[in-house]
Amino acid sequence: MSVLIYVESNGSEIKKSSLDAVSYGAQVASKVGGAANVIAVGTFPQEQLTALGNFGAASILNVTGDSFNQNSPAASAAAVIAAANKVGAKVVVLPKSTLVDSFAAKVAAQLKAGIVTNVTDLPDTSNGFSVKRSIFTGKAFATVAINSNIKVITLAKNAYQGTETGGTAAVESLTVSLSEGDTKVKTTNVEKMSGELLLTEAEIVVSGGRGFKGPENWGLLLDLAKALGAATGCSKPVSDMDWRPHHEHVGQTGVKVAPNLYIAVGISGAIQHLAGVNSSKCIVVINKDPEAPFFKAADYGIVGDLFEVLPKLTEAAKLLK
Ligand SMILES: Cc1cc2nc3c(=O)[nH]c(=O)nc-3n(C[C@H](O)[C@H](O)[C@H](O)COP(=O)(O)OP(=O)(O)OC[C@H]3O[C@@H](n4cnc5c(N)ncnc54)[C@H](O)[C@@H]3O)c2cc1C
Repeated sequence: MSVLIYVESNGSEIKKSSLDAVSYGAQVASKVGGAANVIAVGTFPQEQLTALGNFGAASILNVTGDSFNQNSPAASAAAVIAAANKVGAKVVVLPKSTLVDSFAAKVAAQLKAGIVTNVTDLPDTSNGFSVKRSIFTGKAFATVAINSNIKVITLAKNAYQGTETGGTAAVESLTVSLSEGDTKVKTTNVEKMSGELLLTEAEIVVSGGRGFKGPENWGLLLDLAKALGAATGCSKPVSDMDWRPHHEHVGQTGVKVAPNLYIAVGISGAIQHLAGVNSSKCIVVINKDPEAPFFKAADYGIVGDLFEVLPKLTEAAKLLK
């Protein structure tokens, strides 16, 4: 029973969520008794592809060409479908991303596969094939059986940690022809953010709220983020008031994050904010109000004035480094 795993790059290297997916797919392959094959769409440095063997991939298929360097959902879907057919994949694993969100359903429809999104654990194959998925913005889990011959899974961010096992994998080119419909949309320009850690990919996120009183105090948060190697986020009012850019707004109506560590500073913990962070592995809350709702969702809490706590925390983080 062959497994196919889709990987994508952040522009310079293969994303951590993709490495996690390769390890996950390799474990699925060993459970169902097959090989873990990877499909990489677009141009990648050869050594990055062969290194996927270190995460359990047996072989890598690479589809290249201008149309495949465009982050196009249609072209990516066509490549994944072609690769799935080539290796006879019975399970297709897709790491959660904006691009994957836009083509996963198409892949499933064309492969006549059942699809389950937001999967958080390895499948249970003791009686059929069932997976656990996160639902209600991380507040509950559902166990879902996939009864179709081919199964498509999208893996939730940071739900499964990639492990290096040693080994390299052979890379093979795959030629995929696109239909007229697959090339109707083209990316004409890409402006990359520079010098910032990507919020959705960061292992540590430090986020600030209205407790900061104004943008002039944001340096305290940036200092802590720098000391920890963290990305920075904020609550919605903070971006609404233009203290911080909108792409940093975390929550139900903003970016959803699932880092290993989320530090919330001067944020009350409204349900709409929690909806974007409650898949984080560990939540630390700093708030001067012991009754702040965020403490109920926290693994660790500091009741204190952020203007006193943050400088001390930053110094401690620097010492640890
Ligand atoms: C439809 C809808 C969608 C929404 N979507 C989002 C969303 O995606 N993301 C989001 O964040 N919000 C969202 N909101 C807004 C949300 O309901 C809250 O209003 C918002 O999260 C509150 O932001 P805050 O915690 O920064 O501010 P506040 O609620 O004002 O809380 C500030 C906190 O800082 C603490 N504080 C103050 N001074 C200090 C100090 N010196 N030291 C330490 N702590 C201090 C206070 O005790 C307080 O808990 C949405 C609301 C609606 C209606």
